[in-house]
Parts: sequence; structure tokens; C-alpha cells
Amino acid sequence: MSSRPTEVSIRTYQVGFGDCFLFSIAYNDNTARHLLFDFGSTATPKGSKNRMMLVAKDIVARTAGKLTAVIATHRHRDHISGFDPGSNNKGTGAVIAGLKPDLVVQPWTEDPQIPTDATGPRLLNVPAPQRGAAAQATALQAMHEAARGAVAESGRSPHFPAALRRELRFIGEDNLKNLEAVKNLMEMAPNEYVYFGYRTNLEALLPGVKVHVLGPPTVDQSADVANQRARNPAEYWHLQARALAAAGPAPGGARGALFPNHVAARPPNIPIEARWLVKQARKMRGDYLLQLVRTLDDAMNNTSVILLMEIGDKAFLFPGDAQGENWAYALSKPEIREILARVNVYKVGHHGSLNATPKTLWSGFQNRSDVAGNRLISLMSTLGDKHGQAQPDGSGTEVPRETLVKELRRDSELVNTETFAEGHWFMDTLVAV
Ligand SMILES: [Zn+2]
Repeated sequence: MSSRPTEVSIRTYQVGFGDCFLFSIAYNDNTARHLLFDFGSTATPKGSKNRMMLVAKDIVARTAGKLTAVIATHRHRDHISGFDPGSNNKGTGAVIAGLKPDLVVQPWTEDPQIPTDATGPRLLNVPAPQRGAAAQATALQAMHEAARGAVAESGRSPHFPAALRRELRFIGEDNLKNLEAVKNLMEMAPNEYVYFGYRTNLEALLPGVKVHVLGPPTVDQSADVANQRARNPAEYWHLQARALAAAGPAPGGARGALFPNHVAARPPNIPIEARWLVKQARKMRGDYLLQLVRTLDDAMNNTSVILLMEIGDKAFLFPGDAQGENWAYALSKPEIREILARVNVYKVGHHGSLNATPKTLWSGFQNRSDVAGNRLISLMSTLGDKHGQAQPDGSGTEVPRETLVKELRRDSELVNTETFAEGHWFMDTLVAV
């Protein structure tokens, strides 16, 4: 008898600001296969210090000690911190490695075979077809350095407004390197570094499952997107790295002087007529830094793996934190839009931020309905008041975005980790296939 999927069960874990979803497929021969989509958090909910270990142990119990695959959508801490094996190899990452996954799926930008060179010249020796990829990977490396500088500066610049300092630190920390987690992912199983159209081995490991990789696009693929044709993507990444190097703090956290020859007056010695200007200048620097870390945060989000799985007559969409630029290539293809229209379960992109659920995608979902019953299910892992800013006029960048949450609640069956009842830290979604 051949194995045929009968039911999918998705466990949404409440990890605060982060993602962790256990995707389990039950088969008609009483076997099951399990996929883990991300395992990270930058801020666990109040009073849940051991949450990540509890989740790791729950994954062990639920999978009976065997994972088929891990999908690490992108390198942000809120998606991979749980893969850190910890000192003494007793951390959550060691627990997950003990589940001996057959495969780890990551975006192509994580491929260690891509040559990187933060100083530039070595890129000239990279064969032309790979040069865009190498430039992108290099720029991503440079971003970690900029993030480190921003975190350091947020800690020692008391004259930045408190809200700005908080956000600078939060986004900056999310972009730190997570080296131990990255290493563990690389070593726990063979890795696939995927991009739009990649034929993944997941299909061989999961009988009866059709897998489409919809993102991230390669540098060449995104160059094909008509509305992006104006800018050379490789150059775009270069520019970002250069802007960060020029305007951000120097690597290692040392602060470069904007005007190296100026004579600094220290409070309280700033002449009274200059104090307003000094205050404005400092605030500007703070705003500029925040702008920079937001740019690099977006860039890293856009490396997210977007997976769409078709199982029986159901379709499941897991896009990590992909934003518009990542989505643009897949959404430019009519045949992909047609599959996306049939999605039954949607993992909400980037914790409910507005630009991670492109309008074309959302309005294309045919199973949206404001009548409860057999309609679209959306799964959102989030924690408010951590990312972005609400505005009184409604034009804010807050995560989760209120207007999107309202639509999700109205037009889909929304599972929201923020509204779990007291004492509940996961929720199961069952889908017959
Ligand atoms: Zn995230």
C-alpha cells in the first residue's frame, strides 16, 4: 500500500516575537512526517523564560524523536535563535539536532559556497554570472556589522529619544549574526539553498506532497521583474552596503566623527543658542540610524524562503518574512498566481506587517470569506509594540498592522499567538486533505 496523506496538523507555538510552526502530515498507513518551519524569538512573552526549551521538548514528543526537515526561512534571530545549541550543547538547538532531520532548507543567500568579500576587489575574480549573487551575499555580511554598530550606539546614546533607542536596539539585535545557530543548521543535516523554481528534495521525503519554491528570487530573476528593471539589483546591494559603511558606525562599534576637525563642546558647555541645533542634529542621527537598520532588516526579510505545498486538494503557504520585493517575481507569473489563489492555509508574512502581505496576494486568495466555516485559515505569530510605530492618522508601520489584522480577522479563520488564552502556548490547526 502506498502512503497517502490524510490529514495535516499545524502546531502554532507562542514564542513572542518570532516564528515556530510544526507541520505534521498524517498518512493512511498510520505513519507521520514532520516539518519544522523556523524556531526563533527575539522577545518571549512575559513570564515565559523557559518557553523555548518547553517548545523544543514538545517538538520531540510530538515527532516521536524524528523530524523529516527543517525550513529556516531566513537568518533573522526571531526565526533561528532556537537552533543555537547553547554552551555545553544542552540548548534548544541541540535538542532539535537530536531529531536528526533528513534535510535543512535555507535561502540561496546562505550558501557558504558563494564567495564573499567585504572589501570588494575579490568580487572582480568571481565569474560574471555569479557576481550579482556574490555581491548580495557580501552586502548581507556587511549588514551584520552595521547592525552591531547600531546596537552598540543605541546603548550609549542617552540623548536619543527612548522609543527610538528601543526600536534601534530591537531591530539591530534581530540582525546580529547568530553564528552558533547558523553553524548548527549547517551541520545537523544536508542543506539545500533554494530559490524560485528550485526542485527540492522535500518531495522525495514527503510522499503525496507537491512543493513549490516561490522565493527568494535569484539576482537574475529579480532583474526580470519589469518594475525593477530600472535598477541593477547587484548595484542596489552594493549601494546599500556602501551607504551603511559610510553613514553607519564603523565596524567594531567605533563611532566615526562626522566633522573630524570640529571642537566638541560638552554639556553643560554648549552655548545656549546652539542647544536647539545640537538636539536636532542628534535626533537626526538617531532617525538616520533607525532608517538604516530598517533598510537592512527589510533586505534580510526579503531573503526569506517562500514555500507552497499542495497536499491532496489543499494548499499551504509559508512565506517567512518575505516582503514585496521578494514576492514580486512569483506574483509576476500568472501560473503562480493561479496556484496561490487556491491557498487554504496562509502563514501570515512578517508577523503581520503590512508590506509582507502584498495586496495582489491577499486579494487573490479565493478562499477568503467573511462567513465562518470552510474558509481561509491564517496563522500569525506576533507580539505587538516591538516593531514599527503606530501613527494617529493611521499611516503607521506598527507590527502587527492594525488594518491587516482587521482584514485577517474578518475574512479568514485567524490564529493569532497574541490572543492565546492565559496558560496556552500553542494551538493546533487540523486540515483534512
Ligand atoms: Zn521575523
